[in-house]
Amino acid sequence: MREIPTPTYQYEIDRLVAAYKRAVVEIQRELERLDLTDLSRANAQAALVEVARILASLNEEAAAWVEENIPQAARDGVVRALVSLGVVETVEEARSIARFNRLNKAMVDAAISDMQTDVLAVTQNINKRVRDAVRKATADAMRANLSRGINGRRTIGRDITTGIRKQLGDAADGAIRDAAGRVWKVNTYVDMLARTKLAETYREATTNEAVSRGALYAVISRHGAIDSCKYHEGRIIRLTGEGDPRYPTYDQIKASGQCFHPSCRHSFSPLRDPNKLPESVRERADRQAELGDKALATGKRNPKDVE
Ligand SMILES: [Zn+2]
Repeated sequence: MREIPTPTYQYEIDRLVAAYKRAVVEIQRELERLDLTDLSRANAQAALVEVARILASLNEEAAAWVEENIPQAARDGVVRALVSLGVVETVEEARSIARFNRLNKAMVDAAISDMQTDVLAVTQNINKRVRDAVRKATADAMRANLSRGINGRRTIGRDITTGIRKQLGDAADGAIRDAAGRVWKVNTYVDMLARTKLAETYREATTNEAVSRGALYAVISRHGAIDSCKYHEGRIIRLTGEGDPRYPTYDQIKASGQCFHPSCRHSFSPLRDPNKLPESVRERADRQAELGDKALATGKRNPKDVE
């Protein structure tokens, strides 16, 4: 078994997050231009058309990103399996022969479509929040302007405009609630989403390539994790339900939430026979198995995924 470093995709992830940040700022600028002392439904509607244009362009950029980067992560995952199983000697050779088998073709298609849905949900969420905020701001501003006329004041109060401005400003970067009920800002959510999807695609591609070559086991990567992943680094797992039941399956560990959690950057290197591992690797794997099994039995996990 030969281990290679797990890619982080930092540059690509930063590029996607930057696109969302830029769109949020553009939308906020658009909303700042609204004249609250003369805010008509027509003005508000014009701003919303511009917001929709910004979000449509963001959707296009995100879709292209997904179509490029999900297959790339899968190719890298295949390379990991080829090198780890000794099919080729070097990463370069592995790259030149890496192909998607039937399992991986289906997996990549599904992963692309999943992530497209997820990124689309982010822009839909922003769109809805901004629409709601603009509708409320228009109503508030019209009310304030009406009472200004009655009171004979020349302009609506600063406290009122500040309040409306704040609501509008928060709307674009408003919180996103995930399936687990956790609340995120747009950029931290997109960062977590991209990190998680690429890592999962990478791991699944490794598994599909390994299993199709008859390898049922793998050793979890190590980078000195400080969260609950640390109990499982370096241990041996089963890639599917087959094989020696003394080893936990990937799914069992993932379901525990202790490792392979959102944003986790652990991967694994496939192998055919755990008994043929070098002694030092084997000893470490056994030690970690003891730690890891204890952790799985207690079910403890970090309140927050900190990697
Ligand atoms: Zn991890």
